[in-house]
Amino acid sequence: MFDDIQHRLSDALGRFKVRGKLTEANMQEGLRAVRTALLEADVNYEVVQRFMKRVTEKAAGQELIKSVRPDQQIVKIVHDELIELMGEGDPHIRFEKAGPTVIMLCGLQGSGKTTTCGKLARRLIGLGRKPLMVAADLQRPAAIEQLLVLGRQLDVPVHAEDPAAADPVEVCRKGVLEAEKLGRDTVILDTAGRLHVDDELMGQLKKIEKKVRPHQVYFVCDALTGQDAVASAGAFNEALELDGVIMTKLDGDARGGAALSVRQVTGVPVKFVGMGEKLERLDPFDPERIVGQMLG
Ligand code: GDP
Repeated sequence: MFDDIQHRLSDALGRFKVRGKLTEANMQEGLRAVRTALLEADVNYEVVQRFMKRVTEKAAGQELIKSVRPDQQIVKIVHDELIELMGEGDPHIRFEKAGPTVIMLCGLQGSGKTTTCGKLARRLIGLGRKPLMVAADLQRPAAIEQLLVLGRQLDVPVHAEDPAAADPVEVCRKGVLEAEKLGRDTVILDTAGRLHVDDELMGQLKKIEKKVRPHQVYFVCDALTGQDAVASAGAFNEALELDGVIMTKLDGDARGGAALSVRQVTGVPVKFVGMGEKLERLDPFDPERIVGQMLG
């Protein structure tokens, strides 16, 4: 994980390790290398610009040039600023006092929505909740069967209907009613994704938001698709007002660009990260740990 960005940053930060005093020229060269490392790691351009401004100001303020170990100081500055970029981790889910708490998952096809549905249900069971999953992804027929399998594995009820006859809004609405009937306190809606953000997809999700009124809306963001994922998160947030992001496939991400950019670009906190295909591989988002790995 993060091998690529780790090599790039380590190479860039190594330039501050000079014999004798750091010169203004060394410093500029080092900072330029840090900037290039982040851009090559697919961090959003604007985010990199803002980041570099803050790092440069801090480096000047701490008089890196006069410092005995400029490399250690710059590593600390970069470390702190990378954490700042990602914002604080917030793995808490706010539950409603009365009636089932409804959580809607949305995202592009293949981002890991259905898998994340199962992971989230498993996590909720661990918190003593009684989840019910709703198979509202009628675009991808295999998604319904996949959710039913996850439900059996986790011993969690799944509300599913025949995709040929069903309407996703109704499936969600009936799913919530079924949860009430069965005494389940948390509902997870697995909604449809498409390969690209389009009006039809957004229209359908907006309809579910309006008619079913989920209490939390999470965007499932595939880390491997980098800035495309971040741009989609922005588009979904404009249409739906997201409460959080769940970043999947971080285990296979060498660059880290999506993880470093999504909070700054959308203003929405990352709540959990997917660290593998298995159901137990959903961790709270931990910026400190991520930066630790990026800096090696
Ligand atoms: P959906 O179309 O959004 O419902 O996506 P799926 O849940 O079917 O996931 C697509 C693929 O991504 C599947 O092969 C999953 O096993 C895989 N996947 C999902 N989350 C993760 C993750 O955190 N890490 C890894 N390595 N694979 C994941």
